[in-house]
Formats: sequence, structure tokens, C-alpha cells
Amino acid sequence: MAVRNVNFYKGLGRLRQFVIYFLSLDPLIHFMQHENKVIDEGKQGEALMVASGAPNGKKLFLESYGCQMNFADSEIVASILSKEGFSTTTNFLEADVIFVNTCAIRENAESRVRQRLQDYKKVKKGNPNAIIGVLGCMAERLKSQFLEEEKLIDIVVGPDAYRDLPNLIEQAEGGQKAINVILSKEETYADITPVRLDRNGVSGFISIMRGCDNMCSFCVVPFTRGRERSRDPESIVREAKEAFDKGYREVTLLGQNVDSYLYAGGGLKKEILTEEQKASATNFAQLMEKVALIHPDLRVRFSTSHPKDMTDDVLHIMAKYENICKYVHLPVQSGNSEVLEKMNRGYTREWYLDRIAAIRRIMPEAGISTDVITGFCGETDEQHAETISLMKEVGYDFAYMFTYSERPKTLAERKYKDDVPEEVKKKRLQEIMDLQSVSSAMRTKQGVGKIHRVLIESESKKSKAQWSGRNTQNVTVVFDKGNAKKGEYVNVLAETCTLSTLIGRIVD
Ligand code: SF4
Repeated sequence: MAVRNVNFYKGLGRLRQFVIYFLSLDPLIHFMQHENKVIDEGKQGEALMVASGAPNGKKLFLESYGCQMNFADSEIVASILSKEGFSTTTNFLEADVIFVNTCAIRENAESRVRQRLQDYKKVKKGNPNAIIGVLGCMAERLKSQFLEEEKLIDIVVGPDAYRDLPNLIEQAEGGQKAINVILSKEETYADITPVRLDRNGVSGFISIMRGCDNMCSFCVVPFTRGRERSRDPESIVREAKEAFDKGYREVTLLGQNVDSYLYAGGGLKKEILTEEQKASATNFAQLMEKVALIHPDLRVRFSTSHPKDMTDDVLHIMAKYENICKYVHLPVQSGNSEVLEKMNRGYTREWYLDRIAAIRRIMPEAGISTDVITGFCGETDEQHAETISLMKEVGYDFAYMFTYSERPKTLAERKYKDDVPEEVKKKRLQEIMDLQSVSSAMRTKQGVGKIHRVLIESESKKSKAQWSGRNTQNVTVVFDKGNAKKGEYVNVLAETCTLSTLIGRIVD
């Protein structure tokens, strides 16, 4: 990734990472424009390593791009194919099967995959029988068009069709092109135990639902990941318990809109449930409580909340259990109600601020982050000013900020003109970034002089003598190792900070 004009931010951890995202003009940079942004840029394109069951002698290269849901899906794919006997490799040149799990959220994300496909041409030269497949959102968006445009590709598979992979591979091995992009109304992969691929072995991700019914006008997700379905809570609790037994100490419950989670036997939420079923269904607050009760040493996080659906019940459950982290990512997108209406977000500025007030009332110590899009269709200077005033009023700990980028087939593409000039979008983005960097720095500084309970996740990137972990508000804390071990909880007195990281020492 090219980095320009960011020396000031060098070494400032998480904050630096997002500043780099937005100041750089590198077209390969991955911007996200929906709400499941637990993104680890360092993991983009990472090849996944899995031990296979009874080896079939074939090697699989599986790499992933995009949001954390995609990485969680790759763990399901890895599980399905390791049962078929595939062993994994990090060298695509020696692979018999290459799969790339893709993201379609922005054009840049797609160009990155197209460029990557050029590398795979070398594989076919060395091994004409090698199979190359594209999985995920880009596969779903382009369907058979992908096979026409990229002759190299043998298999195209959408996010709901991974169980079909063994058949599709067989078909491709027989010399045919294979495609399955059918979106399901039931599939949640509830019975498949994902092969955990998280590198630190301490914090893992669990998908609790799939798809999204919201149809925000800028978003491609409802078209690529289908309708909203919630996963059986018992299978979620089982998976979290297994993770805990294997040494994991934190699980993040993943969904495009977790507050909308509702399980009453499977299928589509909005069409199948009767009033009676709804009354006996498990909602998100109840699910989170079940997971929190597994063990007090298992931290629970979630991503992502939706302002229109986030209830006080969820906040009360968060407040009730110490092991549910006091951190809410609540995407606002715009501070102006007219823009929010055009975005089809389902709430107003006032409603959003009411939800913020509820978080502050029920959990005064909670960390709050958000997503903002600048330059959405027709956005005026006055409307942009309302975003700025809202950000000032809330004082976010952290924000993911984007310029609007039109995506094919979305509601916004069909209904509105993408008419805010690029330089205006960028200028507005710069303004909110400047504002947010002050707010983030202030929020981090407030943690200095306090004792934080930290889950040790990994070695600090800067020093082998230090551990790195996060406090309940999701702020990174770095401190000397002492006798503490990875996966343990320690109390750390924060003595100083950078813009986004607390630095301290272990205390009793
Ligand atoms: S449609 Fe809206 S709620 Fe659903 S994933 Fe996209 S941005 Fe998020």
C-alpha cells in the first residue's frame, strides 16, 4: 500500500491506519462502504492454512478480501474442503485449486481481485489442470458474466453455495465451467464448525446471521449476500463454548445488522414469523446473554449495530454483564435527516442522537464509533455541516470515514445522481477526518491515569518485550510483558498514550 503525506501519524497504531487509508491515492486500497467493518487490512489477501482430514493429495490455496464476514466465511469453506481431504498451501504456484473470496463493496475492492487474477495465470501455465475459483460477493454480483470476462476462471460461487463446492470442483475437474450463485432463504451454515483461522488464538469471530433486509440505497450487500436469516442460537452458543474450550477468550458476534437478529426456527425473519413465533423467538439481547453466560472469562463483542434497531434491552444486557464489552459501533452515515432519508437508513438525526443518549445513560463508560459517508448524492454544504455538528456533539472514539462511491444496481444508482464533485467529497472527508483525529486523541487521553482490564492478544508490533491487548472500550493498550501470558486478563495502569493507544504497566 502506498503511503503519502502521513509521516505525522507514523507509529500511531489504529488511528494511523485509517488516516493512511484516506490520504493515500493508491487504487488498491480497500475502502468499505457497509457496516461490517471489522477490517484488518493486514489480513487482506492472506492465504489460509488448514490441516486436512484424510488427505486427498490435492493442495488448496484460499485467500480472502473484504470484511470480517468474508473471513468467517472462508473458515467455513476451509472446514468443508478439509473434510474432503484438501491440504492448504500459502504458495499459489503449487496449488491444485485456488479460491479467492471476494468483496464487491467498492470498485477498488473489485479491481484488486481482477489484478490478483492476473497472477494466477502463471499457475495455469505450470499446471493446466489447476482450478481457479472466485467466491463471495463479487462472484454473486457478476455471476456468469465473470466466466465470460475472465476466461481463466473455472468456478464461480456465491456466499450461500459453499456446501456445493466439492461438486463444483468435481465438475471443473471434468473440464466444465461450474457456477452456483443461488441465494438461499435458509442457509446459515449452522451445523458447520468453522476451522478457526484467527492468528492470535485468543479472539475469534462467529457469524450469527447472514444477509441484510435493509436496502440502504448506497449498499450492494442485500444483492450479494441475500435476505436476512438468523442462525440457531444453540449452534452459536455451542460454537462459542468450543472456542472458549480451545483457549479463546473473546468472541465477536458478526452480522450486517445484529440488532435485527431473531430466531424462531429458521428461514426469513420478516416473512415467516407469526406474532406467536415472534413472542417465543430469541432476539439479540437474549442471544448475547446466552453467550455471556458461557464463562465470565469469555469476552463478548459484536458488530454491527443499526441505529433503527438498537433497543435499550441490548444496552441493559451489555451493562449487566462485565464480560460484554462496553463498546458500540453505531454507523450514522450522515448527520442530516434528508440525506439519511435518501440513504434509506430508516432513522433521523434526532432518532440517532436519542440512541447515543441511551448508550451514555445506560453505560456511561462505553466507547462509541461510527461510519460516515461524505458527498452522497445531492449533499449540500449545509447538510455536510450537520454531519460535522453531529460528530462534535457525539464525540466519537473512532470513525471509519469514506467518500461516496456509486455501486451498480443499488437503489442510489437507479434513483439519484452522483453529483457531488470528487474534490468536494474529498474536502469534506478531510474536514471530518481532522475533526475525528482530535476527538479520538481526546478520548484516548481520557484513559490515562486509569486502570484498564486488558485481554492480552498478541505481542506488541513495536517490541517483543511488550504485550498488546484491548480494554473493554476497544482501545489498544500496550505494556511490558512481566510474567503475563497471551490469553490472560491483566489490570494495566495507563501512564501515557499516543493518539490511539494507551501505554502503561501491569498492576495488581
Ligand atoms: S443495506 Fe444498510 S444495513 Fe444492510 S449491510 Fe448495507 S449498509 Fe448495512
